[in-house]
Parts: sequence; structure tokens; C-alpha cells
Amino acid sequence: MKGRVTLLGAGPGNSELLTLIGKRRLKEADVVLYDRLIDPSLLAFTAKNAELVDVGKMPLHHKVKQSKINEMLVNYANDGKKVVRLKAGDPYVFGRGGEEAQVLNNQGVNFEIIPGITSAIAGLAAAGIPITHRDYASSFHIITGHHKKDGQQLDWENIAHQEGTLVFLMGMAQLSNICQELISHGKDLQTPVAVIQWATQWRQKKVIGNLTNINDLVVKHQIGAPALIVVGNVVQLSDELSVRKPLDGIHLLVPFSARQRLFNLLTDLGATADFYSRQEKVPVATDFSAINKYSSILIDDVASFRQFIQLLIRNGKDLRVLAGKQIIAGNQSVAKHLKAMGLLVDKIMPVDISQTNLVELGGEKPQYNIGRFLKLYKEEHSLLTLPFELAEFSGVVFPSTASLNDFLTSLDEEQKSHLQSLKAFTMGKLICQAAQRCGFSEVINCQPNLQATVEKIKEEFARD
Ligand code: SAH
Repeated sequence: MKGRVTLLGAGPGNSELLTLIGKRRLKEADVVLYDRLIDPSLLAFTAKNAELVDVGKMPLHHKVKQSKINEMLVNYANDGKKVVRLKAGDPYVFGRGGEEAQVLNNQGVNFEIIPGITSAIAGLAAAGIPITHRDYASSFHIITGHHKKDGQQLDWENIAHQEGTLVFLMGMAQLSNICQELISHGKDLQTPVAVIQWATQWRQKKVIGNLTNINDLVVKHQIGAPALIVVGNVVQLSDELSVRKPLDGIHLLVPFSARQRLFNLLTDLGATADFYSRQEKVPVATDFSAINKYSSILIDDVASFRQFIQLLIRNGKDLRVLAGKQIIAGNQSVAKHLKAMGLLVDKIMPVDISQTNLVELGGEKPQYNIGRFLKLYKEEHSLLTLPFELAEFSGVVFPSTASLNDFLTSLDEEQKSHLQSLKAFTMGKLICQAAQRCGFSEVINCQPNLQATVEKIKEEFARD
């Protein structure tokens, strides 16, 4: 089978700015090579068994050389793999996408280009700057601030005389030089300049000045790469057109859920939310034929009962196999759910029972361990554990004690040491009590519904 390489534009950072086809390609990929500017939450779209290669960082923190990346792309594709080369913004706006495509083409590798939203346009909008405007700029120019050592020089005479908006990428190390060149080639000293760092992301920062003072402002506000340098009159609109939301700049962790309701509520208020992984109940193949031998059935939890029904149906049987047997529920709540599902229980644990007559239906391990145990499902994390830096988050939300446990079990030792800088938002008293024992900086209890929780989060950060 022939492999394929997709040069995929990841967009400027915010994970929802990925294209629909981009999301699908990530899901289909066998291997993803990504670099430093990529938000790790995009990797949540990949399949569980996909190989994820960080080419922005090697084990000793060296960047993987471009020639090595090219070689890896070709080799993976020749092995028949579906390869995604995930690149910041648009793959063909700087960042060497064109060179990668040439190598693939020369080597006869099947490849495609999937565009992304470029930071060079969308990054300005995120800071309230329209790149063109009838009153201020009728063109725009995207310019690299970084050159090949022996390569072409910029035509400053031409650049400085453009009426349109100038956008410099990879220019932070050259900022004062860029301003100097523009001034010495005739650009007005008062020309507005904006520097926008980490545009569209929770850590977005901007400063606004002019050609003479922007360098000092950047130092004063500690703004560094990656950033866009925007020169031109459209910059004047930045304050007027910046859209402010109550949770701007707040970075939260929420439990993974296919329905995403909490994610949506929080991000609509301006927060950036990323998912932590939840345990998922995955059915296991179980031989249940022995069940006939037992006169009592203990059902540990609702999930194992659901799985049991599935198993019966798949084998051309139904609940009549339980006829005449004593049914015991693992607890009150299980009994209630079983009733809703059409099964009345005879007893609720704890009860005194002879172990020879009993079979227990359950998950990962038996809850009671009396009699024979039939394992019907196992627990697996629903997402791979993403390479998040916990220090980059302001808070984490726990709707249940199970979600708290799942979160804690997905952390490595290094991540655990950062819990003390994280606020925990719990949706109920018992979860709150459990979280208080885990070393968070603060545990804030919320009413157990999503709307009230989001309100509480808003209040909490408005206070800060
Ligand atoms: N292909 C990318 C650009 C790659 S070059 C694109 O289309 O956006 C890398 C440069 O892009 C960085 O040095 C920085 O100048 C800019 N950049 C990328 N993402 C950015 C972001 N979220 N905020 C600010 N600058 C960004």
C-alpha cells in the first residue's frame, strides 16, 4: 500500500480554527509530525494508536533538522503510512512548507496540501486589527523578518513606500532593525506599530506604539516570539475593534466529553479550554454460558448490566436467561437504574450469601469478590495523555469524583508537582471534599449544573 503525506495547516493556535478536513486528516493519520507552535490540544483529534512525533524538540531539546524531517516524511510514506505534517498557520506561508513539498515531489511521494488560517491575517483580527480597510490600507504585504544567511536581502526602499499594511513574521529578533530600516527609507516616524504575541491563544498579548517607541514597549511588556509585527494605519483601530470577553486569557482543563457542552460554554465566554482524558468503559469478550449454573446474580454497576444485555443479544438470547434467579444489586442506585431498565432486584448489597451459588457481573475488578466473577468491561483512557504543561492552566473542572480520579491518574510526577498552582472547580460537596485532599491551590465548590458552574468560574476570575 502506498502512503501519503498531508502538509496540514493547523491555523494560528486556537484549536477550533482548524479546518474540517484538517480535523478529518488528523483522525485518519498513522503518524503526525508536529512542531513547537502547535497547540497540543489539536493532537486530541488523532486516533489512539497514532504515532505522535514532536519535531520541534528532540530528547535533548534540540530542534530536529529540516533535512531529518524531510527524510522522516519520505520514509514513513514509503512504509505505507498516512502521514500528517502539522504546521502552524498555513503550510505555505513561511515555515518551509514549500521546501517539504519539493522534496516529496522529487522523491515521488504522494502528497497533498491542506490550507490553514494564517496567523499573518487572522492574528491581526484577534487583536482588533483588520488587515485592510477602505480608509487606511488597500493592500497588505507579508514579509519575513528572518533571512537565509547568504540569501536575498529585503528591498527596504520598496517596502517602506508601500501604502498598505506591513506584517512581519519571525521578526522579533530584528524588531529594532526593521523599524530603523523603515525610518531610514522614509516611513513616517509616527506610523502605528502593533506587536501581537501568541495570537488567538489564551496567552495572547499585544502592545501598540509607533516606529520610534515599539522596541522599548516590547521590552517593557516582555513580549517575545512568536509574534507578528504590524506596521500601518490599520493598527489605530485595534482598541476600538478588540472584542473583549469575560474569560479572556483564562486557560482551563475540562473532562473530555463528546458532547462538549462545558467546553462550548466556557470558550464562548472567551476562555480557552483543553480536555483531560476520562476513563472509558470498553467491552471485553466474556464467556457467560456458565451463568446457568448459578442461582444468584450480583450486578455491580449499571455499565456491566448494559454490557451484559448487549452480550446476550449478540448471542441470540435475552433477559429470560435470568428467569428464576435471585437478582442482587451492588447498591441502591444500581437497583434504581435496573428498575428503570425493567429488572426488579430481590436484594441490595450487603447481603449474606453463599458464594458457591453466586456470579458477580462487573468491570475492571470485582467489587465484592464473593463467588465467581465475570468481567464485562475494562477501563481505558478516552484520550491519549497530551503533553500539557499544567503550569499553563488557571483551573480545572471536576463534574464527578470519577473525573477527579481520572485526571489524577493521567498525570506524571512532574505534572503532579504543579497542582498547587491550579484552582479546582468541583460540581458538588463530595467531589469538593475529595479534591481538598489533592493539593490544589484552591478548591471552589459550585452548584452541580453546568450553567451555575460557568457563572462561578466567571465570578472567580473577575475577582482576580
Ligand atoms: N505558517 C505560519 C507561519 C510560520 S513562520 C502561518 O501561516 O501563520 C513562524 C512565525 O509565524 C512566527 O515567528 C510568528 O511570527 C508567526 N506566528 C505563527 N503563529 C503565531 C501566533 N499564534 N501569534 C503570533 N505570531 C505567530
